[in-house]
Amino acid sequence: MTDTLTQLFIGGAWVDAVDGATLPVDDPATGEIIAHVADAGPKDARLAEEAAVEAQQEWARTAPRARSEILRRAYEIILERTDELAHLMTAEMGKPLAEARGEVAYAAEFFRWFSEEAVRIEGGAGVLPDGRNRMVLSRRPVGPCLLITPWNFPLAMGTRKIGPAIAAGCTMILKPAPQTPLSSLALAGILKEAGLPDGVLNVVTTSRAGEVVEPLLRGGKIRKLSFTGSTGVGRLLLAQCADTVVRTSMELGGNAPFVVFEDADLDKAVDGAMVAKMRNMGEACTAANRFFVHSSVAEEFGRRLAERMGSLVVGPGTRDGVDVGPLIDANGRAKVEELVADAVQRGAEVLVGGHTPQGPGCFYPPTVLADVDPGSRLMDTEIFGPVAAILTFEDEDEVVGRANDTPWGLVGYLFTEGLDRALRVSERLEVGMVGLNTGLVSNPAAPFGGVKQSGLGREGGRVGIDEFLEYQYLAVPVS
Ligand code: NAP
Repeated sequence: MTDTLTQLFIGGAWVDAVDGATLPVDDPATGEIIAHVADAGPKDARLAEEAAVEAQQEWARTAPRARSEILRRAYEIILERTDELAHLMTAEMGKPLAEARGEVAYAAEFFRWFSEEAVRIEGGAGVLPDGRNRMVLSRRPVGPCLLITPWNFPLAMGTRKIGPAIAAGCTMILKPAPQTPLSSLALAGILKEAGLPDGVLNVVTTSRAGEVVEPLLRGGKIRKLSFTGSTGVGRLLLAQCADTVVRTSMELGGNAPFVVFEDADLDKAVDGAMVAKMRNMGEACTAANRFFVHSSVAEEFGRRLAERMGSLVVGPGTRDGVDVGPLIDANGRAKVEELVADAVQRGAEVLVGGHTPQGPGCFYPPTVLADVDPGSRLMDTEIFGPVAAILTFEDEDEVVGRANDTPWGLVGYLFTEGLDRALRVSERLEVGMVGLNTGLVSNPAAPFGGVKQSGLGREGGRVGIDEFLEYQYLAVPVS
């Protein structure tokens, strides 16, 4: 077991915050403090920025193969340390160990994928229409980047940004969420071990996000912001990026519809619902938030889903056999309680769950609500917890209209055995991703991202690296 890293990572060195501040990290299953990490302020952010700016030119000149091999080595080290990383993640975030192991594999895969992409950055060349001028197109790294990640996938949200940034030849500052800094620091340690040059990645953990981030975005040296988090914070950061015209990628909130048609295979639909709802205890941007089920199958779907949800074991993520860990913190749980209370007060029937257990830890039971009133708050709020809200519908036009009636558009899930309907409805859904007869869309080889207020840009897939590259066009007249 390697020692838990708790300092800032700046210019390749582990350092305390300039003012010596630290912030506590706790285990949401017990409320106990498990570590204190350095709490960066604006001065530390400036040092990280200097390190990233200084390293940029040389890093951009580094051979793509060298960048690729660093990612490949880091991928292998991550997999070798799966258990260690999974325990760290479960301790700071709460997800059951089996899910944490799954996230380690998912996170590592972004490094493998982008190690393969680093050597396939394509430019182009051509004769312009006048027959005289030639064009040479090359791809250049965008420059020093700021990467901001949320707490729900502490490792994967980091590798999904760091992987393409390294592959493209960008230097970066990573600011992880204060609830889950340990996984990001461990990742920095692994990349150092894998041979990443000093200053390419800098990690600032902080409880003072606003004070640390705003000067970086307004300072003119950071050329790109890649943010994953809520739509509200995304909007604020977009405004801060406007003055210095910083390029942005925004992976924001979701409000996913999960549509079950009358011709759906209900076994698949219930299996899919368990994944789309319960992956990460419902604390996922891709979580199914609104279940629209055709009235002819709604009762059976609700009964079967409630049975499956009711059989899940809730408890500390480190305990054997546990399926559902605690929510991230007391605020996260209070929000879920309020949303359920509001839906029940408007007439929803609780098929299973719905009551907060006594005792320590931020636990909330898997819950299914039927006959949810469309005016309920959870219809236009990300629940971010293990609560499935079921509404019924009668026809295709109606359900498409209701599914699209939201400012978000990250993902939608469709369950139908009709190919015609599957294609027609997917094309009408205003979302960046559709799961057809599946509750899982995330895959490092596919472009992940949303439309409307769910974000800008894509992460992963062939296009993921484009977010970190600029085109340069060289005009060459030939006489
Ligand atoms: P959040 O509150 O928006 O925070 C995300 C990150 O932004 C954290 O590191 C946070 O640090 C930082 N932040 C907050 N205010 C900031 C400010 N004024 N300036 C700079 N940074 C600031 O979101 P969260 O609660 O951690 O994560 C859940 C959200 O992320 C959900 O909406 C979920 O849908 C979304 N998400 C989206 C995707 C996707 O790919 N589309 C993936 C995962 C999660 P502090 O906590 O210190 O403020």
